[in-house]
Amino acid sequence: MKRVLMIRSIVLFALAIGIAQPSFAQRKDGATRPNFILIFTDDQGYGDLGTYGNPTIKTPNIDRLALEGQKWTNFYVAANVCTPSRAGLLTGRLPIRSGMQGEKKRVLFPDSKGGLPLSEITIAKLLKQNGYHTGIVGKWHLGSRPEFLPTKHGFDYYYGIPYSNDMDRVDSIPYVEAITQPKNEYFQVPLLQNEVVIEKPAIQNTLTERYTKEAVEFITKNKENPFFLYLAHSMPHVPLFANDKFKGKSARGIYGDVIEEIDWSVGEIVAALKKQGLDKNTYVVFVSDNGPWKIFKDLGGSSGPLYGAKGNSYEGGVRVPAVFWGPERVKPGQITEIGSTLDVLTTFASLAHTELPKDRVYDGYDLTGVLTGTQQKSPRDEMFYYHASQLVAVRKGPYKLSFYSNSEFAYPDQLSRLERPKLYNLNEDIGEANDIAEKHPELVKELSGLIEEHRKSVVPVVSQLDIP
Ligand code: MG
Repeated sequence: MKRVLMIRSIVLFALAIGIAQPSFAQRKDGATRPNFILIFTDDQGYGDLGTYGNPTIKTPNIDRLALEGQKWTNFYVAANVCTPSRAGLLTGRLPIRSGMQGEKKRVLFPDSKGGLPLSEITIAKLLKQNGYHTGIVGKWHLGSRPEFLPTKHGFDYYYGIPYSNDMDRVDSIPYVEAITQPKNEYFQVPLLQNEVVIEKPAIQNTLTERYTKEAVEFITKNKENPFFLYLAHSMPHVPLFANDKFKGKSARGIYGDVIEEIDWSVGEIVAALKKQGLDKNTYVVFVSDNGPWKIFKDLGGSSGPLYGAKGNSYEGGVRVPAVFWGPERVKPGQITEIGSTLDVLTTFASLAHTELPKDRVYDGYDLTGVLTGTQQKSPRDEMFYYHASQLVAVRKGPYKLSFYSNSEFAYPDQLSRLERPKLYNLNEDIGEANDIAEKHPELVKELSGLIEEHRKSVVPVVSQLDIP
């Protein structure tokens, strides 16, 4: 007994003078430096989760997060395709400000010379300055040249593919065939660990499983220090690959199999957090990078009640499922206020008591008040819809004013400007079917004015996507 008391005194003394590291659960800065896990899926639609009304695909783990946390139903990405959307998420700035949008190219390709400029500050770089350990598992798509890799952008660890899983296609296989009857060898996509290629072609049917294993290992390794983990799934971007354990299981076909595997992955991550005693110190955010790629029909997802899809700026292209989970921190509920992936950096910085740099324009708002329930109203009341560098629509409150019509995946020069803008009340008309512009000229004027104001804040920069 005496010996036990003596050991206890030594441990308490060591803790008091900072020799011993307390376990994370008792970490004194658990409140001021919580962990963050940002799960980002690729081309998953608004209507592809049980909790968002999908009648066929089973997603019990994500549904549980939505029930225990917050489900946002008016949550937007920064752009309707991968590269600019990811740039907006990680920098908290519209892609037009960093040059991560293009007129000739909509996304970065394996031979692209550009990438996210090193002057940009990612969530990882920002949190790392505050002592966070940072990791990315999954798809990057912000520059595949060595100087643009995640390890140059504040991430301590990287495991994943540098761009989309349909790139580096073998020339002899036509695109549609490669997508509809995919084989690993059709796509010579590399798998990287930090800056080294460890597999080529990446074996895609085990990617979700291996990403999950990597994510769980990252959580376990970092249980005693604050961490930020960005888990950017390669799926459900086509070509669709599921592990044998999931293949053929969903009634929704291979697309459903892939989503159900991602749901399993979410369950594994939450289980790892609970096992390590980190669930009360960690925020988990689940969100998609843009709408579903509907041109691939059953191989693409669903935008549910929304009109539009990946590649355009109707609601289906840019409004995505977004779930925030943090037991005892996030007040459970459905949030119908407006939010955006542009707000993630600002919100994480606020929750981690980290100051934002003052030398640049941020497009994000701090959603902390809504997350904790101290505030009903979101600080975000507007959204600017960009299609590459064109501002094509604006939303304020329930009203959306659209200046262009555009088909899926149109290039900027294929956009057609409407003779007169169309106005929708999205709260009453989620499918953008009833134009009320003629009835409300005062709203048309007010929203047009917002655009003019916003334009003044945009300084033109070189497009990284169009660098020849
Ligand atoms: Mg995408």
